Amino acid sequence: MIAMNILGYHGALAFNDGMPELPEVEMVVRGLRGLLTGRRFIKARLIRAGLAPENPPRQFAAWLKGATVLDVARRGKHILVHLANGKTLITHLRMTGRFYNLAEGDENLPHTHAEFLLDNRKKLIFTDQRHFGMMMIARTAELESVRHLEKLAPEPFDPEFSEKYLLDVLKRSRQEIKVFLLDQTRVVGLGNIYVSEALHRARINPRLAANRISARRAGVLRSHVIEVLQEAIDSAANQVTDPREVYGRYGAGAIEDSWRVYDREGLGCMTCSTPIRRIIQATRSTYFCPNCQK
Ligand SMILES: [Zn+2]
Repeated sequence: MIAMNILGYHGALAFNDGMPELPEVEMVVRGLRGLLTGRRFIKARLIRAGLAPENPPRQFAAWLKGATVLDVARRGKHILVHLANGKTLITHLRMTGRFYNLAEGDENLPHTHAEFLLDNRKKLIFTDQRHFGMMMIARTAELESVRHLEKLAPEPFDPEFSEKYLLDVLKRSRQEIKVFLLDQTRVVGLGNIYVSEALHRARINPRLAANRISARRAGVLRSHVIEVLQEAIDSAANQVTDPREVYGRYGAGAIEDSWRVYDREGLGCMTCSTPIRRIIQATRSTYFCPNCQK
C-alpha cells in the first residue's frame, strides 16, 4: 500500500482513499473522448478475463472488433464508451485502473488487462495493478437496467439534482449526513474528500441526521456539492503527469492545495482558525471544523 502511494491517486492520501473521485474520472472521460471519438477499434483483447466477468474474452473481442466510437460519457464514476454497433463499453477504474495511449507497436505496460488497437495505429491499454477495476460491454439501449448503473442517483450537474430532489431524499433518511452523501444511490459523485469539503462550505456538522436538515440548508448544501466538484474538475484540467496516461492522475499538490478541511487534522480552519478535527464515520475519516460546523 505504501509503495502504491508514490504513484497512487492523491499522493500520500492514497492510504485513506485509493479511489479516484468523480472529478478525476471526468478528466479520464475527457481524455478518452479526444482519443476515441470517431475512431474504430480494429481489434480488442481482454487479457485478464476477471476484468469483465460478464463478457467472456471471445465475446469481448467480437463485440468490439470493427466498432466505431460515437462518444465517451460518464455516469457516476463509470466511463461509458458508446459504439455505433449499439453496444457500450462500461469501465470503472476503482483503485488503480488506468488507460494509456500507446503506439501500435509499443510493448504493453505491466498489469495490462485489456488492449484496444485503433484505426490510427494507436493502441489504448487498460492497466490495473490491484485488479479491482471492472469492464462490461452492454447493449446501449439497456444501459439503464445494467446492475452497475440502475440504482445511481441523478448526476450532480443535471437539472434532476434539484433542491426538491435533495430535500426529498434527505427527509427519508436518519443516517448521518456525511455517510448519507457517500451513498451513490442518493447523490452521485461525492467521495470521501469532496464530501468533507462540501459539508464545510455548507457549515453542516457531518454527524447531523439527514432528515434534520432544513429546506434552506439543503439548498445551500446542493450548491456547494456542485461547486466543489466543478472546481475540482476545473483545477484538474492541466495535471497530466505521464504523457501517455489518459488524464488518470492529478499532479502533485495542485488539487490538494484547494482542500479546506480534508487531510488537515489539527491545522487551523481557513475560515475561523479553529483546529480541524478528524473523526471516523462508517470506517472512513471525516474532517470538519467544530466551530463552523456546529
Ligand atoms: Zn471554522
